[in-house]
Amino acid sequence: MSAQLIDGKQIAAAIREEIKAEVEEMNAGTGKVPGLATVLVGTRKDSQTYVRMKKKACKKAGIASFGHDLPEDISQEELLKIVRELNANNDVHGILVQLPLPDHIDEETILGAINLEKDVDGFHPINIGRLSMKRREPLFVPCTPKGCIELLDRTGVEIEGKRAVVLGRSNIVGLPVAMLLLHRNATVSICHSRTNDLPGVVREADILVAAVGRAEMVRGDWVKPGVVVIDVGMNAIDDPTSERGYRLTGDVAFDEVKEVASAITPVPGGVGPMTIAMLLRNTTDSAKHYLKIV
Ligand code: NDP
Repeated sequence: MSAQLIDGKQIAAAIREEIKAEVEEMNAGTGKVPGLATVLVGTRKDSQTYVRMKKKACKKAGIASFGHDLPEDISQEELLKIVRELNANNDVHGILVQLPLPDHIDEETILGAINLEKDVDGFHPINIGRLSMKRREPLFVPCTPKGCIELLDRTGVEIEGKRAVVLGRSNIVGLPVAMLLLHRNATVSICHSRTNDLPGVVREADILVAAVGRAEMVRGDWVKPGVVVIDVGMNAIDDPTSERGYRLTGDVAFDEVKEVASAITPVPGGVGPMTIAMLLRNTTDSAKHYLKIV
């Protein structure tokens, strides 16, 4: 069997078009557009690339961006002051502090200072707390986990009652995606580096979300026939045949697993494009909430 390809690029493009239309309608009705502030500290190349991609995506959707590129040695107080200014700016509906922050800055203090109603990255401790509790709704859900669920929904995959296995328990991906699956009434197992018999647990999955950061770790004989696979992993592996000298691969051995699964995301082109689409979604929802548009 060869699995259905879950095309994240195509699904994300459709979502971005939906958002663009909503933004045009908002602008026509209120004269306002959603605004996203990105806060980048330091000169990490990967963080610079992510922020640039986010600004570009905003522009294409008609969302205003407010960029703060700050020096590596900025003090925590100065950074807090900028976050508070953005909290008070009525044209800013979402604030994204690009992680990781330098070691001298306490991440939780900064994330906790973001106005809850502008926490479009969903990492405010209160939003994470609500996500982890029964019958509590966070205002915003972190973008990559939200993108995983959106891929399942838009592919017509039933979640309720299914056995879901999440590989990885990070605050950014593994834990929140497990919580979202649980809220949708899946029966969830969370695996990590100390899990015994990982292939045995993975084999129980109807839905597998892999977020470990280990290239092609999940093999074809680890999965049950018909499993739906969401591969969050993004690993650069050496490839002398590629112009860049490396290629990107997921946590799942795609060529093997696609012969057993019923549906699978590719890497690249699966979860990656969904992360930015969900950021635009959260920012637009925040602006609608602020402007009282239902
Ligand atoms: P982390 O390194 O924070 O977490 C990795 C998790 O995997 C940990 O819980 C760790 O266990 C577990 N783990 C590591 N090795 C093994 C192993 N051999 N067996 C079982 N479990 C293992 O990574 P992130 O969650 O931040 O990212 C995971 C992957 O997703 C990365 O490849 C990253 O690049 C990608 N990613 C992609 C995004 C996208 O937009 N597509 C966005 C964010 C991340 P333990 O807790 O015990 O240490």
